Amino acid sequence: MDVQIIKLTSLIGDLLDVTKINSGKIYLNETHFDFEKLVIETIEEQQLSTDFTIEMHIEKSGTVFADKDRVSQVITNFISNAIKYSPNTQKIIARVERVENNIQFSVQDFGIGIPEDKKDKVFEQYYRVSGDEETTFPGLGLGLFISAQIVERSNGKIWVNSIPEKGSSFCFSLPVANQ
Ligand code: ATP
Ligand code: MG
Repeated sequence: MDVQIIKLTSLIGDLLDVTKINSGKIYLNETHFDFEKLVIETIEEQQLSTDFTIEMHIEKSGTVFADKDRVSQVITNFISNAIKYSPNTQKIIARVERVENNIQFSVQDFGIGIPEDKKDKVFEQYYRVSGDEETTFPGLGLGLFISAQIVERSNGKIWVNSIPEKGSSFCFSLPVANQ
C-alpha cells in the first residue's frame, strides 16, 4: 500500500480511537498472550517499512492478560515516534525485560529529546512539544494519549525518560499474568 494511504488510515484510526476514549466506549478484547512474541512480530512488521535499524534486546519475560492488538498499537506508536523524532540518527533500540512481577517494554532513541517540564504533558490529548504550527515533524498529538489510555486500562504504567538533544526512552509495563 502507498505510504500516504497508510498514514491516512492510521490517522483516521487514531481519531476514531479518541472519540471512543472520550465517550468511554473503548472496549478491550483481553486474552493471555506471550509478550515477547508479540513484540518480535510487531517489530519485524515495522522493520519492513523503515531504513532504521531496530535493535532488539528481548529477555524471556512471560505472559500478560491484555488486548493483543491494542498492545501492538502501543509498541508501534513508540517505534514510529522514535523514528520520526530522530532526524540525525538511524538506530533505535527496543527492549523487553522482566522487572519483578511486571514486563517492561521500552524504545530508546537518540533523537531530539524532550525538555524536563514537557515530559508528562506528552501523554495528554493533542499535546505536541513543538506546538501545532510545527511542520518538520507532522502529527496530531494523539499517539501517546491513546497509548497511555490503553496501558492504564490494562493496569499498566507508561512513562518517559529523556534528555534534550540526546534522546528519549519511552517505556510501559504490564503485570505478568497468573494463569
Ligand atoms: P501522532 O498523533 O501522529 O502520533 P505526534 O507524534 O505529534 O502525532 P504523540 O505521538 O502523541 O503525537 O506525541 C506527542 C508529542 O510528544 C510529539 O508531538 C512530540 O513533541 C513528543 N514526542 C513523542 N515521542 C517523542 C520522541 N521519541 N522524541 C521526542 N519527542 C517525542
Ligand atoms: Mg506520534
